Amino acid sequence: MTTAPTNDLVQALDILTPKNSQRLKQQLLQGRGHWGNKTENRKIHKQPPFLSSLMSVPKSHPRYLSLMIRERIVKGVAQGIASMHGLLAHGRGEAFDYLVGEKTTRKAKQQIRKAAKLLLKAKRPIISVNGNAAALCPKELVQLSKAIPARLEVNIFHPSKSRERKIAACLKRHGAKEVLLPNKGRIKFIASNRRFCSENGIAKAGLVFVPLEDGDRCQALIKMKKKVISIDLNPMSRTAKSATINIQDNIVRAMPLLVKEVKKQKKN
Ligand code: ATP
Repeated sequence: MTTAPTNDLVQALDILTPKNSQRLKQQLLQGRGHWGNKTENRKIHKQPPFLSSLMSVPKSHPRYLSLMIRERIVKGVAQGIASMHGLLAHGRGEAFDYLVGEKTTRKAKQQIRKAAKLLLKAKRPIISVNGNAAALCPKELVQLSKAIPARLEVNIFHPSKSRERKIAACLKRHGAKEVLLPNKGRIKFIASNRRFCSENGIAKAGLVFVPLEDGDRCQALIKMKKKVISIDLNPMSRTAKSATINIQDNIVRAMPLLVKEVKKQKKN
């Protein structure tokens, strides 16, 4: 099966294809050349070569884990779940992860315990999912929503109805029964696409769990007197500074721990 070029991929090819290789770009977009199904007697790639280049990283590579996490985001872009801008946001996160030694710190574990407690006693908690979160840990987001229980809602910064639907489909493939999409609900105090939300979800929530949030929306939710739990590796981001609780850890490490902690606290 060939991965259809998304708008983001078209933009990426504009940036990545040298000016003198316009023919190659055309071939890629038309599904020929190295990235297509019309190739005869040639190797068929499921995605453009620059997107599949990491598949060959050996497990013994010292940065194997970090590279594989990158791979998930890159695949998310290829599938139309994450945006190209999500790659940059991930890079910012990686830099801070490097500084904390790519490990869950003792402080992060404390934040996870506090977050689980707050999630379990919250009125109408909602899990807000963006492209990067869906690309990196869809299974754990669904597990958390079932364990609390809390509804899942898609909310993305860069406007795209198709991407919203793809994120919802991805969560459903991982076991979600229902995923809310933005409709008539509004988040006050922000002008970006993220002001749109579900009238039965974020609009009425007492607590919003927003892994990988952008600062504007976190501040707006707080102004609306909602509690906010975020996951953000950058302790200096506006999100980390304004959230009720910020878990300063990589989402891929924090999510399984949070699910486990919620289940544990529920039993006690
Ligand atoms: P601010 O909150 O200051 O407004 P921002 O909205 O501009 O920052 P983004 O560029 O949207 O921030 O980046 C998203 C944030 O998510 C960054 O602060 C980054 O540290 C964090 N981040 C990215 N990837 C991960 C990850 N895998 N785990 C945890 N945090 C991450």
